Amino acid sequence: MIKNQTKRRKIVSFDKSISTNIIFCQPDKYKILENISNNFENIINVGSNLSYSPLGFSENNLSIEIKKFNRVLNFDKKRKLITVEAGLTLIELLSFTLKHNLWIPQLPGYPTITIGGAVASNAHGKSCAIHGTIRKSIKSILLFHKKHGWLNLSENENKDIFDLTIGGIGLTGTIVSVTFQLIDLESSKFITEKQDVQNLKKCKKIILEKNDQPSFIYTWNRADNFKSFGEGIVYKNYIEKKANVSNNFNINKNNFKPLFIPLWNRFSVRVVNFFYYNINKYSKTKKRENFLNVIFPFYGRENYFNFFGKKGFYESQLLIHESKLESFIEEFKELFKKYEPTITLFSLKNMSGDQKYLRFEDDKLCLTFDYVNNKKSLLFMSKIDSLCHKYEILPSIIKDSRINKDTFYKCYKEANSFKDKLNKFDKSRIYQSELSKRLEI
Ligand SMILES: Cc1cc2nc3c(=O)[nH]c(=O)nc-3n(C[C@H](O)[C@H](O)[C@H](O)COP(=O)(O)OP(=O)(O)OC[C@H]3O[C@@H](n4cnc5c(N)ncnc54)[C@H](O)[C@@H]3O)c2cc1C
Repeated sequence: MIKNQTKRRKIVSFDKSISTNIIFCQPDKYKILENISNNFENIINVGSNLSYSPLGFSENNLSIEIKKFNRVLNFDKKRKLITVEAGLTLIELLSFTLKHNLWIPQLPGYPTITIGGAVASNAHGKSCAIHGTIRKSIKSILLFHKKHGWLNLSENENKDIFDLTIGGIGLTGTIVSVTFQLIDLESSKFITEKQDVQNLKKCKKIILEKNDQPSFIYTWNRADNFKSFGEGIVYKNYIEKKANVSNNFNINKNNFKPLFIPLWNRFSVRVVNFFYYNINKYSKTKKRENFLNVIFPFYGRENYFNFFGKKGFYESQLLIHESKLESFIEEFKELFKKYEPTITLFSLKNMSGDQKYLRFEDDKLCLTFDYVNNKKSLLFMSKIDSLCHKYEILPSIIKDSRINKDTFYKCYKEANSFKDKLNKFDKSRIYQSELSKRLEI
């Protein structure tokens, strides 16, 4: 029976840095999830495999994908609570909740990300300065663990495991369902305002300014050449009052198909950035945008990733305290001049939260850089790793598949505490991924 439920297949991380053979299964009944889990020693869960880094698989491990568990199990409109299975995608969740003018605001940027994947990575959305990470919307979790069986997790029940599971990158077992506290959504139309800025100092000032109305603020900056480094556009999205909430979405698959020949290189990045900046600088400063465009900015723009080709790319996301930004950027620019990496994207936003365990969360600024996968970029990135400790930077392990053990333990002060508690909960350390093995978690 188990043999019919599993198959061998090749899997590749979203950034294309790692590919390996795994045993894959997609149970459609809770009984099958129990049986399969009981028959394998090393397991990991996988959602839509949209983590840039290899989080949902490891060589010859069993990867359990629970996308067939995608039902809405309970909805209490009065209390604004919803319980959904973890294989449900974000867009499926929204299609249901928006009918009732409700949502969770911590939505990571692609519609086919699963609830299980978002919870296990403690995902955040564009509004992370106001709403923090998805942790803030989670009331309870139903977890299946090979040794411990079925566990209800919340602030009142198995609190320790609840805490380890949110942002615990799938290492505590299979998240089967999640109850969320929803909030009202006034309308699903946004007003986007933009402003061009000459440098990062100005960007930072705007991002940290107090706003009269809640808005999502983020930037796009140039990092394609030394002279224009930091020049860019600041975007602000406001929810448009008195518009409707629409939930008519028609999305069911990913459109990621890497090109055979990569198109991003020093020259093309420079040309595209020049035009992108100038078009944005001289076009209308205010426009109306729909929900999908704002919440899932990469939906419909998958070619950005496809243009990296089969060799892929690396993304580095860094949390840094605002007081350290300028000095860090000065050193970054010096290294940039010397090592000449190819950076296709540079962006800045603010974040709020408390850093704990493996979670990418803090009251800090969040810098994002995408690099073409080549020798110069890799050397440059290793130099930046060595600055992380100095500037008390937290690098994302969800996004950056290169991070090594040394950088990880220096930057994640609570990593050992996570590891100790996890080992206590699961002495055999059943749930493991390429990432957990690399970082020896
Ligand atoms: C275009 C794009 C934009 C993105 N934007 C953002 C963003 O704005 N903010 C942000 O925070 N992230 C963002 N991400 C990253 C993404 O949110 C996370 O990597 C998320 O975990 C991916 O979900 P997934 O369903 O693909 O899970 P996978 O990548 O398959 O798995 C991710 C982790 O979750 C675990 N997991 C999955 N399902 C379960 C389960 N049922 N039980 C237990 N563990 C489970 C896996 O073991 C793994 O550790 C983006 C990714 C892409 C591709």
